[in-house]
Amino acid sequence: PLVSADAADLEERKIESALRPRTLAEFGGQRRVSEQLELVLHAARGRNRAPDHVLLSGPPGLGKTTLAMIIAAELSAPLRITSGPAIQHAGDLAAILSGLSEGEVLFLDEIHRMSRPAEELLYMAMEDFRVDVIVGKGPGATAIPLEIPPFTLVGATTRAGLLPGPLRDRFGFTGHLEFYEAVELEKIVNRSAALLDVDITPEAAGEIASRSRGTPRIANRLLRRVRDFAEVRADGIITIALSRSALDLYEVDKMGLDRLDRGVLDALCRRFGGGPVGLSTLAVAVGEERETVEEVAEPFLVRSGYLARTPRGRVATPAAWRHLGLSVPKNATF
Ligand code: ATP
Repeated sequence: PLVSADAADLEERKIESALRPRTLAEFGGQRRVSEQLELVLHAARGRNRAPDHVLLSGPPGLGKTTLAMIIAAELSAPLRITSGPAIQHAGDLAAILSGLSEGEVLFLDEIHRMSRPAEELLYMAMEDFRVDVIVGKGPGATAIPLEIPPFTLVGATTRAGLLPGPLRDRFGFTGHLEFYEAVELEKIVNRSAALLDVDITPEAAGEIASRSRGTPRIANRLLRRVRDFAEVRADGIITIALSRSALDLYEVDKMGLDRLDRGVLDALCRRFGGGPVGLSTLAVAVGEERETVEEVAEPFLVRSGYLARTPRGRVATPAAWRHLGLSVPKNATF
């Protein structure tokens, strides 16, 4: 191969980062969260103090990392990035916290996947800007309190409901990111196309936007894949006909469902008669992790009206049967 998989991945990530909006004004969509954040940041700047801790929740790819970067930029503060799974021990977190400079923004992605002891350490740090460092083991262990400079925590989670109450309560502001409307995504596609110097017609931008599952990361990714197609099979200009052929080739259907989404609906309808079926059983049937089905596929399927989460399990709606080209069974439970 010309480039290794890692190099290709790095290249993709470089492009993704080049497409990130740098200011709130540039950040399209999420009008409510944007406006609320603007106020929080404005007030903090006026008081010349670090703002309250911020929690951002929502499905992957809607802009949580981007917003954390914007928060730091708008505060002219340095940013440190880490994630829940990267923090195995409370000591890892203590080391990060004690290394922060005054006013620094700490972005903690997947905060719901932090270990319990780290979480407890975080409570104290968020509230009192202090951590207890435990020295020694067993009965002789002592806690040495360590002051840390005031900082702003920006936590991100795919679902705020996964966080324990005491942690959730320590955030002064919670922003819920929603899937983007097609018109908002269309603007994002046009903006990215301009940055990548890609020729695209307005209709083609609309087509890509409408098949992007309400998600900017997917819109940017599909734009890059359609660009590949346009360069290899045509003259590089992205027209509507070309974008349709390309998206069909990449198995992104008209509603924006990808292989995983369709796999979930397909298993639900064909193997489990439309449900109700438990999440774990469904995940095994599509050969995916529980979390992937629950946090990546389901939110969009629920929002599109194809799947319902009921106390007895996951259920396919009549729209799901129709989307798969199947007839809706008479005795199905909805
Ligand atoms: P994850 O939690 O999976 O890391 P995320 O919610 O942090 O996802 P980001 O990494 O912030 O998502 O955004 C993904 C991509 O989408 C970025 O490349 C960014 O350029 C783009 N993007 C996100 N939100 C917007 C927006 N409002 N306007 C333009 N581009 C956006």
